[in-house]
Amino acid sequence: MKKPEIIGILGGGQLARMSAFAAKRMGFGIAVVEKKKKSPAGQIADHELKGWVNSSQLLKKLAAISSVVTLENEFVDYHRLEYLESLGRNVFPSSQTISLIQDKLIQKETLASNNIPLPRFLAVNHKTDYEEIVESIGLPFILKSRKMGYDGYGNALIKSKADFLPAFDSLTRRHSKLLAEEFVDFKMELAVMVARTKKEIRLYPLTQTIQKNHICHTVIAPAQVNNRVYKLAGEIAIESVLAVKGFGIFGVELFYTNDGKILVNEMAPRPHNSGHYTIEGCCTSQFENHIRAVLNLPLGSTEMVMPHAVMINLLGKRNGPAIVKDYSTALKNDKVHLHIYGKEESRIGRKMGHITVIGDNADKILKIAKRTEKNTII
Ligand code: ADP
Repeated sequence: MKKPEIIGILGGGQLARMSAFAAKRMGFGIAVVEKKKKSPAGQIADHELKGWVNSSQLLKKLAAISSVVTLENEFVDYHRLEYLESLGRNVFPSSQTISLIQDKLIQKETLASNNIPLPRFLAVNHKTDYEEIVESIGLPFILKSRKMGYDGYGNALIKSKADFLPAFDSLTRRHSKLLAEEFVDFKMELAVMVARTKKEIRLYPLTQTIQKNHICHTVIAPAQVNNRVYKLAGEIAIESVLAVKGFGIFGVELFYTNDGKILVNEMAPRPHNSGHYTIEGCCTSQFENHIRAVLNLPLGSTEMVMPHAVMINLLGKRNGPAIVKDYSTALKNDKVHLHIYGKEESRIGRKMGHITVIGDNADKILKIAKRTEKNTII
């Protein structure tokens, strides 16, 4: 009998874990590369490769056992993906796509050159740029590190010159180069997932995302916006994926501004927190379509199975071992789907799991999700 195909994943966090569950359900195997063993995805992988992408030996081993390689974050230096490709292994998203995304300035320039609407932005090179920035994009603005930013780490809101120098210094110390972006007065933040293979492209329902302290907290599907906005957001998301020559699954984060515009905030070339609701909320989850897409298989339906879905992240409420304090309370409501990521340690604010509720009544399921989140201590 032919051995099952093995999908290599760079990174072993919750996105890799949920992708691995989807892959294994369909009969595929998983190889996970992570710095430590027993990572959330490593726990269920067929092959755990301890180490990181700087080791060519490790990448050779990964290429030898995997039929295709994917990743769970855009921070892997695209040159290392090029190396994997040079070994004859397909990588989705490709090194070219990652090279257009991982530096936020290059990402914005790529999208802008494809006429995709964005907030105004500017490269920031040295301390004397403050006046130039204000002249170009106004006040307030956001200083962003071009690389390695996540959950708002790497962003600073600048309201005056007094904020600028300390933020500039602390961001450049941690993250090399910066950009400045106009502060968007948004009515709502939206996000949409797009799955693409060589043969087809499919859009998931548009969602509203609500962040707390710059971290995605609540996702509401579908977003309650008018038809024009709904359609426009989907079109912009598809154009964005085409602009970066993307294959696999993509999350596109959008601002819906108070004056009715849709602007791209950023794109993620991988499963995305705004798509977790698709596990129970859609016919085919973002993770399953990700696996199907990297194997260039037919994609599954992205339709919702119920009219509404709500997802709330379970962020760590304490520092210590990651054990749910009371499963009976967490599972009290019979509509709750509980996901715990298998991280060893909980930390205040760390993404430890999520809950999803689907149903006919948007208000009711939001209430159930909020109550469950409040009562679930991890
Ligand atoms: P990260 O890459 O760290 O996730 P983002 O750039 O997406 O960071 O920013 C995180 C959050 O900060 C956004 O979801 C949004 O709430 C806020 N934010 C980011 N950029 C802007 C902006 N230009 N104007 C207003 N709010 C912003």
